[in-house]
Amino acid sequence: MKSLPKLPIKLRGHHLICLHFFKGEGYNPEFIKNLWKIIKRAEDGEDIEAYPGPDDVCAMCPYLKGKICFYDNEAESEIKEMDRKAFTLLELKSGDRVKWSNINGKIPDIFNAWFHAYCLQCAWRQACQKEEKFLRFIKGLPK
Ligand code: SF4
Repeated sequence: MKSLPKLPIKLRGHHLICLHFFKGEGYNPEFIKNLWKIIKRAEDGEDIEAYPGPDDVCAMCPYLKGKICFYDNEAESEIKEMDRKAFTLLELKSGDRVKWSNINGKIPDIFNAWFHAYCLQCAWRQACQKEEKFLRFIKGLPK
């Protein structure tokens, strides 16, 4: 019997960028474990689908209720806007299949714009800054 083809990893727009700076911090142990697994699969070269909504990361998130992100009152609309911006910067559209290495190659060129649009106000900035390349990609970092 033929084995079923492997499903791609689903990642929404902002996760396609933010996960490059994941260093092991997250909402709870299950969420973190799931993230490490996703990153390992991505780094091993599995297909990634640019996904427009709750993805394989959100699937283990305590803030996902149904298909809506309840991180805070404005989260759902703000995150969808971030996802759109990420797709634009990465030149992707919903449903595209990509490899992690391909996205990784684009991050140095797009990260400065992303940082100034989102990371400055993000509650997770301190966690991401522990990744050495985070600071390396930024121009004009405020003191
Ligand atoms: S906070 Fe919202 S966007 Fe982030 S992982 Fe959780 S459900 Fe997904």
